[in-house]
Amino acid sequence: MKRKSGTVAGLVDQLEFNWFDFDVESFARFIAHRQQRSIHVVPYAFDASITAVCVRGQESDYIFFRQSAYPLLQVHGILHELGHLLLGHQGVVIDEMQIPDVLQRLAAEKVTVTHSQDEYDAESFAQLITLRIRQAKRIHREGQRTSIPALRPFAESGL
Ligand SMILES: [Zn+2]
Repeated sequence: MKRKSGTVAGLVDQLEFNWFDFDVESFARFIAHRQQRSIHVVPYAFDASITAVCVRGQESDYIFFRQSAYPLLQVHGILHELGHLLLGHQGVVIDEMQIPDVLQRLAAEKVTVTHSQDEYDAESFAQLITLRIRQAKRIHREGQRTSIPALRPFAESGL
């Protein structure tokens, strides 16, 4: 368990993404580029039991998220699903034509069958990314403070 979560952290460390400018759409494009496989992020009318799911099509990967969820929850759900894709978790590959049926079934059954270690890792991924974004924003804020005009002469003189 420990070694595995270390792998997730190592992977997050390797991602050269500008966390300060994070938005989930460009992050999804970044992951898609890295995977050499397109990812479509699509809102869907799930009820409260489902935040997001990923579906592997033959041509592309799809992440469907609950359009009525709070924005922060949507981002977290999408990050979790991107974690599954990036970590190479086996999903069922389905024909694109079947996607509407699969979504309807998921929405009706309110269950997704996934390996629990995969769930743990995808959740770690989402949390680590969230932490990266917070750190980047904090560093930026602290940088802002030292660029207060009155302090600039000191900063520039290196004192
Ligand atoms: Zn999951």
